[in-house]
Amino acid sequence: MPLTFFNTYSRRKEEFKPLEPGHVRMYTCGPTVYAPAHIGNFRAYMFEDLLRRYLLYKGYKVTQVMNLTDIDDKTIRDSKARGIPLREHTKPFKEAFFRDLERLNIQRAEYYPAATEHIPEMVSLVKKLLDSGHAYKSSDAIYFKIKSFPKYGALSHMKLDELKDGARVNSDEYEKDTASDFALWKFWTPDDGDVFWETELGKGRPGWHIECSAMSMKYLGESFDIHTGGIDNMFPHHENEIAQSEAATGKPFSKYWLHCEHLMVEGKKMAKSEGNYFTVQDLVDKGENLSAVRYLLLSTYYRQQLNFTFDGLIAAKNAITRLRDFRDAIESGVGTETNPEIESIAKKAAEKFETALDDDLNISPALAAVYDFVREANAAREKNGLSIADAEILKQTLKRFDSVLGVIYVKEQALDSDIEKLIELRQAARKSKNFAESDRIRDQLLAMGIILEDTPQGVRWKRKL
Ligand code: AMP
Ligand code: ZN
Repeated sequence: MPLTFFNTYSRRKEEFKPLEPGHVRMYTCGPTVYAPAHIGNFRAYMFEDLLRRYLLYKGYKVTQVMNLTDIDDKTIRDSKARGIPLREHTKPFKEAFFRDLERLNIQRAEYYPAATEHIPEMVSLVKKLLDSGHAYKSSDAIYFKIKSFPKYGALSHMKLDELKDGARVNSDEYEKDTASDFALWKFWTPDDGDVFWETELGKGRPGWHIECSAMSMKYLGESFDIHTGGIDNMFPHHENEIAQSEAATGKPFSKYWLHCEHLMVEGKKMAKSEGNYFTVQDLVDKGENLSAVRYLLLSTYYRQQLNFTFDGLIAAKNAITRLRDFRDAIESGVGTETNPEIESIAKKAAEKFETALDDDLNISPALAAVYDFVREANAAREKNGLSIADAEILKQTLKRFDSVLGVIYVKEQALDSDIEKLIELRQAARKSKNFAESDRIRDQLLAMGIILEDTPQGVRWKRKL
């Protein structure tokens, strides 16, 4: 089966064919850096990480752009409330975002353009729209005229006659029933304080939507392959991106649109405005394991809502423990007598894994293939043992799966020096045959969440999840 994605634009599954063979160019709407991102946001970034990693697994070259919205209504509102310059307000949230990406083992995109560094590109796009009659100047802003773009509504499946002719909306976020001409460039008001740019368009600042059109086309070209985001971005944000970009270039903007469903808490979307959210740091402070958070966000099909619960995190920890125990069990084989079943178990698992993910990144059957692999390989290993070559086949297969999952072969966090010292003391006690003391230290470490294993190669440790 070829690789297929559900394209929101057509509401159908379509075979994926990049515009340039072998190279995928994709744009992923990034965070608005007015506060730390919450794990609802990270569900969207995690789905994009799965997409990216699977495209790499399939051998594509990937150029991914994720923008940082460091100017919009919310960033200005909050920096003003704190009485500090916009840049100073957004800086720590940008830094926190990159730290969280790393902590969740989300791969880096190729580009992270910040809106405030791309004002000239936005200005030239708005000028193009003014020159071609798709935009007009009003007293408070320059607006995009949606009636000038007959395809307006094609993504969100809204009919143009449902739209209020001539109505205008200046705010960055609005509901479907207020769909109307939207602001591309907002003229300065005293409320904006020192946030403005003096440009050919007048003194002011960009609207949110134009940011993504200008930055995607700068790094990916006027037409590219995939545009993603959370489902709440479909309208008005993505609808507006299409209108601005295609009206300006006369070319199709993104070929495939992929949207992920929300992370929910007790039936409601996790959102800052609801107050029902956790940041990555909140979960760290609660002692949660971030591989488990990653697994939880990853393990439900992206087009299905996912309910966040702490029970879900426990299940995720158990799943990862099983996978890592298997990782350790196949670390090395003995001898040259190969186990005839191993190769076919690995081959069958890889086929099932790929068939599942080729079908619009359907993660559940892909994970089922990994668990079948673990169970069957364990059974074969217990029956006939593993040769060096067998262990290598299993290891390579598991590593390949983990190039997509990112939870098995991960670096353990560095040991605290206290723990290191205790491990050394225990080694010394064992050497002098003081087993009561060595057992006591082992229990003490266990209480600290460190599990020790004495292997022929020496002592090994892992963190209890
Ligand atoms: P924002 O910072 O609000 O622009 O959101 C950044 C990204 O996170 C967007 O792609 C949103 O669609 C997505 N997002 C926000 N809340 C959730 C949620 N509860 N579940 C999944 N994605 C979300
Ligand atoms: Zn965007």
